[in-house]
Amino acid sequence: MNKMTVRDIDLKGKRVLVRVDFNVPLEGSKITDDTRIRAAVPTLKYILEQKPKALVLMSHLGRPKDGPDPKFSLAPVAPALEALLGTKVAFAGDCVGEVADKAVADLPDGGVLLLENTRFYKGDEKNDPDLAKKLASHGDVFVNDAFGSAHRAHASTEGVTKYLPAVSGLLMEKEIDYLSTALDNPKRPFIAILGGAKVSDKIEVIESLLGKVDHLLIGGGMANTFFKAQGYTLGKSLVEADAVETASKLLEKSGGKLVLPVDGVIGDAFDNNANTKTIAVADGVPDDWRILDIGPKTIELFKQHLSDAKTVVWNGPMGVFEMSNFAKGTNAIAQILADQTDYGAVTIIGGGDSAAAVEASGLASRITHISTGGGASLEMLEGKALPGVVALKDKA
Ligand code: AMP
Repeated sequence: MNKMTVRDIDLKGKRVLVRVDFNVPLEGSKITDDTRIRAAVPTLKYILEQKPKALVLMSHLGRPKDGPDPKFSLAPVAPALEALLGTKVAFAGDCVGEVADKAVADLPDGGVLLLENTRFYKGDEKNDPDLAKKLASHGDVFVNDAFGSAHRAHASTEGVTKYLPAVSGLLMEKEIDYLSTALDNPKRPFIAILGGAKVSDKIEVIESLLGKVDHLLIGGGMANTFFKAQGYTLGKSLVEADAVETASKLLEKSGGKLVLPVDGVIGDAFDNNANTKTIAVADGVPDDWRILDIGPKTIELFKQHLSDAKTVVWNGPMGVFEMSNFAKGTNAIAQILADQTDYGAVTIIGGGDSAAAVEASGLASRITHISTGGGASLEMLEGKALPGVVALKDKA
């Protein structure tokens, strides 16, 4: 990465303000997945080893609609982080204003403070300079380690860089390095796998990847729109009628790089307990049935393509993986990627649902890199620069 990181600046005796991505799933005040908190720990430990005056953390959590809402409070994260860091983490019930200012001032030398959700202020998403300035007043140096929010120019990600020297954290560096090396300088064959519900969300990703990969494997609901473009009957399968023409054009210009499923597992209801059958796509889907997963022949076909891959990037499930009866395709791909990693391939999972599926299947430790930011990694796959990264200091 051509940006300065925490390793490139002096942090001793400084108040270090860090934008982390603690946007964790909560059930009440219980954190159901602490991956993002654990992912920030190396940066935070590194900063603490440099003996800063204070370490002040800020993040968003969820999408609070109208100001402060206890449902979206970051308070439960403080004790979880405290356990992971092995040091006291204080919590301030606001991210700016008197409460936050006092909490920062009251910190003991080298103390750690987590500020309340930055999105309790509308100005965060609006990149309001006034909010950015107030947030920046908590630090002498700014570190952005929130890869999951780097694709947004918000007050807490981009705005603050106008007021403080700004560098990258170690997680941000790792995320950018893995994805940019894969995209700009991949060991070949380079295979991308895309899945999920909609083609329309991923048109730019497909276009950009077609210029880079050796093959692009498409699964999940988004494959249906391509099938429609090829004239197959699809019963009640999810199809995006207004994306059929685009799918047709993508097929035309793909130069044979797009690989579509050849069979599917269909259900007679959108339900885990539906009756199921496996059909060849070419035979069509009966009325009242819908494709809910890729079939065994497709898993075999994808496996063949992946068998000599040296770089693999995967984003999006192969079927309705939330229902166990339609998770087989997604789990099979996770297994193939884990095996390929053992054979020396670099495997990267672009966050979101596919990351969740790999975590759930217990294969996460056998994947080279699982991104903490689904949206941000998709934008990188689209070939876009991330504003939260662009704003950081360039390496000399
Ligand atoms: P996305 O947000 O576009 O990555 O899509 C993820 C969602 O796609 C998941 O919730 C899956 O259940 C859904 N999905 C994957 N395959 C299918 C399919 N064949 N039919 C309907 N939904 C699907």
